[in-house]
Amino acid sequence: MALHFALMIDPAASDDARTDFSETFTAVDPAAPALTVGELSTQRGDGIFESIGVVDGHAQEVGAHLSRLAHSAQLCDLPQPNARQWREAVTRAAAECGPGEAVIKLILSRGIEHGPTPTAWVTAATAADNTRARTRGIRVVTLDRGYTLDAPTRAPWLLLGAKTLSYAVNMAALREAHRRGADDAIFTTTDGFVLEAPTASLILRRGDTFVTPAPHGGILHGTTQLSLFDHLAAEGYETVYENVPASALHTADAAWLVSSVRLAAPITAIDDVDVPVDAELTAAVNAYLLSPRD
Ligand code: PLP
Repeated sequence: MALHFALMIDPAASDDARTDFSETFTAVDPAAPALTVGELSTQRGDGIFESIGVVDGHAQEVGAHLSRLAHSAQLCDLPQPNARQWREAVTRAAAECGPGEAVIKLILSRGIEHGPTPTAWVTAATAADNTRARTRGIRVVTLDRGYTLDAPTRAPWLLLGAKTLSYAVNMAALREAHRRGADDAIFTTTDGFVLEAPTASLILRRGDTFVTPAPHGGILHGTTQLSLFDHLAAEGYETVYENVPASALHTADAAWLVSSVRLAAPITAIDDVDVPVDAELTAAVNAYLLSPRD
């Protein structure tokens, strides 16, 4: 996934009402060093990010991603991002993307140790080819996340509902899934509930009802899941948020992991037990997710 565009941002105050933020952007060579060694994003993973899917130059669901960036900033005591400034930066990055699928990343770090401001930047890169996951599906294993469902209220400093740069645990879970012969993982709580995947949300189908684990703060509220639930509701399906017991994984009529870049990957097996796949519905869902969405 080669980076082909990078823009450093001088973060504006959240209430800065300028209509043109171009003077706060500096395009940099994406292959050249751009951060100083004192950066807290690299030293401590102290910062937040978003990954936005781009299809044929259209950045998907920018508003939902900017809302989640603002929510993550609040949870992490970072200054509120200026939504207009970030939207303009996304527009600049999307204009560089061209035909096909790409990914735009927004990064807001706490900045340099003892420094005056956060560090912020945007990148654009060509997306990996996800056709195989979307059409052939993925095998997943359940992995214990190591806390109970009420951990977010008992320990908000774990920042469980924030999309922080500290993804080492998520990446370790993916490696463990691969070691177990699977493509991906579903995290479960120690008291037996289902959470999310390391980089995706889980959606189950129960008859004509689509179910996803309630985002009580222990998981990220996925922009793809939100968009898909709106679409499914408009199509006449029931959509619900629930505390999903792990046992529900084996009674689902179908299951998907959904995220901004891979989109909907049908789950073919959970812990080596086959899960029914609805190829027609999956294709329709991915056609929707690939259409321009705002
Ligand atoms: N949950 C986690 C932990 C994620 O990292 C992601 C996306 O990267 C998601 C859920 C899905 O979010 P979205 O649909 O906004 O990509």
